Amino acid sequence: MRTLTLHPGRERRILKGHRWVFSNEAADTLHDFEPGSWVEVVSAKGAPLGVGYINPSSLIAVRIVCPPGEKPDEDFFRQALRNAADLRRYLYPGEETCRLVFGESDSLPGLVVDRYGDVLVYQITTLGMAGREELIGELLLDLFKPSALVFRNDSPARALEGLQPAKGLASGNLPGPVPVLLDGIRYLVDPLGGQKTGMYLDQRDNRNASRRWMEGKKVLDLFSYNGAWSLSALAAGALEATGVDQSSDAVAQATTNAALNGFADRASFVAANVFEYLKRIPRGSFDVIVLDPPAFAKTRSAVSEARKGYADINRRALLALKPGGILITSSCSYHMNEELFSEAIVSAGQAAGKKLRLLVSGGQALDHPILLAMPETRYLKCFVVEAN
Ligand code: SAH
Repeated sequence: MRTLTLHPGRERRILKGHRWVFSNEAADTLHDFEPGSWVEVVSAKGAPLGVGYINPSSLIAVRIVCPPGEKPDEDFFRQALRNAADLRRYLYPGEETCRLVFGESDSLPGLVVDRYGDVLVYQITTLGMAGREELIGELLLDLFKPSALVFRNDSPARALEGLQPAKGLASGNLPGPVPVLLDGIRYLVDPLGGQKTGMYLDQRDNRNASRRWMEGKKVLDLFSYNGAWSLSALAAGALEATGVDQSSDAVAQATTNAALNGFADRASFVAANVFEYLKRIPRGSFDVIVLDPPAFAKTRSAVSEARKGYADINRRALLALKPGGILITSSCSYHMNEELFSEAIVSAGQAAGKKLRLLVSGGQALDHPILLAMPETRYLKCFVVEAN
């Protein structure tokens, strides 16, 4: 295995537990290395820091996979997958559906695996992990014996690694959408045709934490996708829920899911642009509004624009709430950290003339663990705010 030497001082972040080497931190010429090969990363003084895979064409040149002295062989991957499954074993008792692998947080950078009932869906986002895709597939089949193994290698992040998009069935049978039970709610999840791997599992704990404010309430669920927030609200006794999403496929999925749970008469889903929709709502129309948009800031340079976007959309949502209403507002942009997000919500409150009290500050679900030394693994913010 070849050695990659860092510039002086660049070992510090890695010694704390961060897992990335950026391209400007390497003292050696990156393009001398075989793309996707294993390298041993060492400090300027030659101290070993870990073993990772390299992509000379990516801004993130090396992703460290294992500590110095360990070999990233088949046993390593098998054990990492086992450890990931062990962590999830106690999180959601009686339910199989969860995020089984969350990248760096599970020592498997570039790999996400979601489990829907007995179907596994994986997503590979880096060149290094793409080179080990066959091994990952074999291990997933061997360890978890899924009825189907699906690959959703169509994340836009792949372009940064020079990878083409692809999706399909790697193994087994997938006759149609998968029936899933998640926190007592039924869904039909489409791992091949749906967004991401089929559904957004990261909001799970926040949906559950929000149930206490739903009884008897009129709920608006903005950016509703397959209706998860609406269904959670209705399961908790909401009077009615209206979901809005620009994708007609999402609206169709949400409508099916509502019927599946016997909520058809209390749920309605509308295909519309949320920004336009919010302009048309009379003031004080809803008791609870959920705002769960896609990432506004995909890069650091987009943060200041994103901040304005969050402030504006949250202001409109606040105006559509009744006095004392509840706003459940999220940001899934890593670059929009909690402090910036909080500032955007405060601006929205000021512009709407509302006093805001933070009731819950939530993050990503427990099956998306955060590597404390690596802020990039913490991305979801969800505030439950009372507005008066
Ligand atoms: N709330 C969902 C996740 C939402 S993901 C859940 O808990 O599962 C973001 C959603 O916003 C996607 O379904 C996407 O189709 C939708 N979307 C993106 N831009 C939109 C817009 N301008 N208006 C309406 N929907 C939009």
